[in-house]
Amino acid sequence: MGRRHQCLQPYGNSTRLARPSPASAARYDSTVRRLEDTIVAPITALGGPVAIVRLSGPESWSIARTISEPSSSTEPVTKAFRTVHRTYRHGDDGLVVLFPQGRSYTGEACAELSCHGSRAAVQELLEACLSQGARMADPGEFTYRAFMNSRIDLTQAEGVRDTVSALTATQLRQANRLRDGALRESVCRLRDDVHSVLAAVEASTDFSEEVGDLDRPAALARLRSVASGIEDLLEGTQRSWLLREGLTVAIIGRPNVGKSSLLNLFLGSERAIVTDIPGTTRDTVEEVCNVRGVSVRFVDTAGLRTATDQVEAIGVRRAWASGETADHVLYVYAGPEGWTEEDEASLSAVPARVTVVENKSDLDPPRRRYGPAVRVSAKTGEGVTELMDNLVQELTDGEPPLPNRRHTPLLEAALADVEEASRTMIAPVPDDLAAVHLRAASRVLGEVTGETASPDIIDRVFHDFCIGK
Ligand code: GDP
Repeated sequence: MGRRHQCLQPYGNSTRLARPSPASAARYDSTVRRLEDTIVAPITALGGPVAIVRLSGPESWSIARTISEPSSSTEPVTKAFRTVHRTYRHGDDGLVVLFPQGRSYTGEACAELSCHGSRAAVQELLEACLSQGARMADPGEFTYRAFMNSRIDLTQAEGVRDTVSALTATQLRQANRLRDGALRESVCRLRDDVHSVLAAVEASTDFSEEVGDLDRPAALARLRSVASGIEDLLEGTQRSWLLREGLTVAIIGRPNVGKSSLLNLFLGSERAIVTDIPGTTRDTVEEVCNVRGVSVRFVDTAGLRTATDQVEAIGVRRAWASGETADHVLYVYAGPEGWTEEDEASLSAVPARVTVVENKSDLDPPRRRYGPAVRVSAKTGEGVTELMDNLVQELTDGEPPLPNRRHTPLLEAALADVEEASRTMIAPVPDDLAAVHLRAASRVLGEVTGETASPDIIDRVFHDFCIGK
């Protein structure tokens, strides 16, 4: 993670956010009852050989100690972070770990108790805890407490939810980044910047005699950088949608270099017609496949050359059009012929991001190579794994944190307010007006992280959680 920002304060090995306002939490509290209760729930799915039950709240340690005893006389006493084998008073046994307040998942004192995984064993352990004053946790209540105790912000809570429900590797990667706080970091940094401009504006309007006039160019430059930061995040929204909905990769190159053969290899079938007569793929052929969890639509195009008939000419035009609309291009040349001037010219005309592929690595090495090309053989399959790794890296890495549907309208509203504040600052109107827009921008950015979130937003985020999370 990058540097910490003003709205984050050091807290154990994590960071603290300003605690959500009591009003924010009111509605959720009324449904899930009091934060002072000690709560309990299984945190593993039923049916495995072993299950884990978590207690969270002030009485967690004493309940864990009361309902179990050392398995042997040499057993050490239970203390924070030490895993000890204990026998439960109702007969089962398992490992018990105690977590101190401030250094647990929820931020409260916690105990995690393992037991055998049968429904009856879990039920008995839960009842033992309930008999000592714990109550059953509601769905999402552990994570809700982590949020209320400022262990995580609302975007990280959403990351937890998305991690648990991820179906593909890509969804999991995105969820992990959200959970790690990538979006929280960015939004806090932007909000800090809005706050410092707001402080300068307020100081110059309220105490102009003491602090002098507002340094307008500096304030405007800072707001420009906030606006571009928000735009970057919104661009991430588009990318996140693309990754969910799928990406298009066009396969482009001169005739006969093995474009159709590569597509067939990717698909594991003979969808595109392969011949050694140049110009066989007269139109585009499209197929969707799952590349490491990303849905990719491959478009095999007609070879780039001067067409000899009208049909082929249309195909060549479509090949260029595919290159223009694709999210990524695989530009293929064949080893035996090597990298040519024609390839050089075509490559410089491709508008999308490109990976250059040198095919037919099973034949004689080329006279002239394109340095960074990935070498493959559509015939033997050599290099295709590396090509796919490379492609997935290109398609999914280095993105800004990915906002979801809840974050997008808030970021758009913040952008509009920041832009309005900038316009107001250069207009012949009092700076109080800019302050109004800056306060609005701060409020909506705070809704993203949850610091100024309404009870409705909190309700909606935790609504989708399951028991034990
Ligand atoms: P396209 O016109 O670029 O789509 O090329 P094709 O996929 O139709 O392939 C043209 C010819 O090259 C066919 O005879 C393929 O069997 C052959 N070919 C394609 N890839 C390879 C390869 O990696 N090694 C060898 N030796 N031949 C290949």
